[in-house]
Amino acid sequence: MQTAPAQSRLIIAVDGPAAAGKGTLARGLAEALDLPYLDTGLLYRAVARRMLDAGHDPQSDAEAAARALPASDLERADLRTPEVDRAASQVAGQPGVRAALLDFQRRFGHARGAVLDGRDIGTVVFPDATVKFFLTASLARRAERRWLQQGGQAGDALSRTRRELAARDAADAARAAAPLRPAADAIAIDTDRLDAPAVLAEALRIVRQRLPQT
Ligand code: C5P
Repeated sequence: MQTAPAQSRLIIAVDGPAAAGKGTLARGLAEALDLPYLDTGLLYRAVARRMLDAGHDPQSDAEAAARALPASDLERADLRTPEVDRAASQVAGQPGVRAALLDFQRRFGHARGAVLDGRDIGTVVFPDATVKFFLTASLARRAERRWLQQGGQAGDALSRTRRELAARDAADAARAAAPLRPAADAIAIDTDRLDAPAVLAEALRIVRQRLPQT
């Protein structure tokens, strides 16, 4: 028997730790299914950037910056530095910041349906998402991917990237507000075993099974 989606718009949640391949999968799904895509990490990064630019400690109250965040900030080119990685995780632990960014994410998804990637899409932002994926990969693989994305410079950079990823994942998983964890009904995909096209093919197969037949 065909199961109807939990809501009229198609919402696909892609959660998981840093550098597990969420963005690659989410962009691929959005393109294949003609859905808008939102990288929700950019919201936390943009708030962190504002705090740093203003000379504020990202651990101090960042809710006002989150409430005032212009959508155009998501286009900024300076959101992926190691400094912003750390600061984003710090502002993301604040319940006021998360509450301020929730509406934006829900409005984005409700408008036309969407693929969203992040940490809490399936647990908090869209608990009724049509399909939820939780991507995992070993720390070694994830660190290597991120290191290559950042230009793969020599020296101790890979081990530093590895330490920083592990610290960020631990903070994201340990926080009280919307911690990183799989939703009970999420489908886990280990991206160590599969390359990006195989992950996309597997995810598309699962999504298409859930769609009402027309
Ligand atoms: O996904 P990305 O690595 O760009 O996210 C940066 C940080 O933003 C994460 O380490 C996490 O602390 C936070 N984040 C979050 N919830 C999301 C997306 C990102 O807490 N849905």
